[in-house]
Amino acid sequence: MQNTATPTHCPYCALQCGMNLTPVPDGGVEVTERADFPVNRGALCGKGRTAPAVLSSSVRLTSPLVRSGGTLVPATWDEALDRIAEGLRRTRAEHGPDACGVFGGGGLTNEKAYTLGKFARVVLGTSQIDYNGRFCMSSAAAGGIKAFGLDRGLPFPLEDIPKTGCVILVGSNLAETMPPSLRFFTELKENGGTLIVVDPRRTRTADHADLHLMPRPGTDLALALGLLHLIVAEGRVDEAYVAERTAGWEEARAAAMAHWPEYVERITGVPVPQLREAVRMFCEPEAAMVLTARGPEQQSKGTDTVGAWINLCLATGRAGRPLSGYGCLTGQGNGQGGREHGQKADQLPGYRKLDDPAARRHVAEVWGVDPDALPGPGRSAYELLDALGQDIRSLLLMGSNPVVSAPRAAHIEERIKSLDFLAVCDVVLSETAALADVVLPVTQWAEETGTTTSLEGRVLLRRQAISPPEGVRSDLEVLHALADRLGVEKGFPTDPEEVFEELRRASAGGAADYSGITYRRLAEENGVFWPCPAADADADAGHPGTPRLFLDRFATDDGRARFVPVSHRASAEEPDDEYPVLLTTGRVVAQYQSGAQTRRVDELNAAAPGPFVELHPRLAARLGAAEGDPVAVVSRRGRAVAPARITTGIRPDTVFMPFHWPGEGRANSLTNPALDPTSRMPEFKTCAVRLETVES
Ligand code: SF4
Repeated sequence: MQNTATPTHCPYCALQCGMNLTPVPDGGVEVTERADFPVNRGALCGKGRTAPAVLSSSVRLTSPLVRSGGTLVPATWDEALDRIAEGLRRTRAEHGPDACGVFGGGGLTNEKAYTLGKFARVVLGTSQIDYNGRFCMSSAAAGGIKAFGLDRGLPFPLEDIPKTGCVILVGSNLAETMPPSLRFFTELKENGGTLIVVDPRRTRTADHADLHLMPRPGTDLALALGLLHLIVAEGRVDEAYVAERTAGWEEARAAAMAHWPEYVERITGVPVPQLREAVRMFCEPEAAMVLTARGPEQQSKGTDTVGAWINLCLATGRAGRPLSGYGCLTGQGNGQGGREHGQKADQLPGYRKLDDPAARRHVAEVWGVDPDALPGPGRSAYELLDALGQDIRSLLLMGSNPVVSAPRAAHIEERIKSLDFLAVCDVVLSETAALADVVLPVTQWAEETGTTTSLEGRVLLRRQAISPPEGVRSDLEVLHALADRLGVEKGFPTDPEEVFEELRRASAGGAADYSGITYRRLAEENGVFWPCPAADADADAGHPGTPRLFLDRFATDDGRARFVPVSHRASAEEPDDEYPVLLTTGRVVAQYQSGAQTRRVDELNAAAPGPFVELHPRLAARLGAAEGDPVAVVSRRGRAVAPARITTGIRPDTVFMPFHWPGEGRANSLTNPALDPTSRMPEFKTCAVRLETVES
């Protein structure tokens, strides 16, 4: 490896901040600023700055582990791989291919996600593959496809945000989840634009808002409908745009008119004058945007909620026009690319549908298999996890830690324990890996090359900066070795660029067309936005990529966007006498997802050492809890205990817990796996709980 700085990208969130990595004598890397990447211009949050600590962590796995006599003990790679192949082979022989499950992650590179999907369908012949990205953005994806015919998190670059007139930010605490992105919103305000934040908590992001709306968790669908009602009532609909570029307005309009402001105030708790002010701020400028994140999406009505916010954009002519539009702030590092290339239960590479005969033929030809041999769509992430130990007897898991991150986590933990066989690839012994029969130690971002696709739809090249430690192999090497052991000797290369070349062909002509993107282009340019079809045989001279979508037409058959008629409905679980309080869950700035990596970093642990229960002083007084007192939060699914953090910055009817920790304070012991009927996304964002004091 070279000793000069290698320009690359952060391993964590979907902002994919640019950074330089320089090898240091102890074998690790030093992170330095990379000012040339326009998304972060050198800025990094604490997670990105400290990411090298995980490379050299004392708890880093450097040897395969196999379970022997109930204990995980070191083994050779051959022993471990043989054991996995045998476990999967036996399950397939005894129970059929669909008894083998595969679970991926939104942090895997495009090459890994693509190869994992191919491995499941070609080598195992199973339909049972999904990934934790289902928990992250699938409602926004479903809503985007319904309305626009295409899902790309942001249909415009982040650099457009400061130039628009108003942004409504719904259920995003980006000041904590992706801090460098806050700059785009402060620049928006400096340029005279306004920021409306919709969140039941006064977050660090809400502190920057010109208007902060605090709806009850689970009611932002009604909130969006109330705003649309006022837009109609105040004559602010862009009738010419609606007639020219949309379809379905009358039905959506009728649904909105049933949600008059006072009714919406009763449902959401947001006063009518604030609704009117939001409409004025959103409609007066020439351009405006709505951006959603996990708040509206992680609900049993997440797709409809996203649809309601998109309807707001369509009615006011704020989609498919410069500096206007709806976008989703995808969370995981490769949450976008991870859903495009085949590790999702219903998808094939290039964002093709697994139940589309033409898509099956195209991908089968690239893979050199019979289209009829490809399995059909499988279960969604929670449903797959819920079937473990029952229909699904063996599981291969990569880049995920569902013991901490899945809803109703104690139940899922029991399901995992009931498997006949579990193999996990990870960099540390996560809570899920600790339950495995075989654990394989794999490379991390600085030790391997691969591509990711950021929340902007910008495909990026993460470059290898250092050699991995002895004893560690890449996920691609693992899949190659397992395919070989299971009788498929070809088609699973270990070189990421070779995989990407195949991915280009597999994606050609699909919605997420990468065929015009090459590693050479990615190395020379600051990423390329898809779709980027190959213009000719020499892709390097081809298509420039597509930073802005929908300016001429939407990706529907007739080019028109679709209004989706939606109405308010209750959450799957509403408060009652037994469980009178609402729980909402989320993140803190110093931890990432299940914390498998960030909980191994001293600096981050010092900043965010453990879970807490955030509650309003009135609720704390009723409970008799003081700041720091242990509080038990109890739902129909379990109980979690964490110290009280008392603040007026949360609604008195709601408590908040971050979900990064296992054990007694595991927030996901409480969460409700009620699924959205379209996206199959669980309702992480709201469930009914009661609070109890705990003797300290
Ligand atoms: Fe990494 Fe996201 Fe932090 Fe940027 S904001 S440094 S991508 S974790």
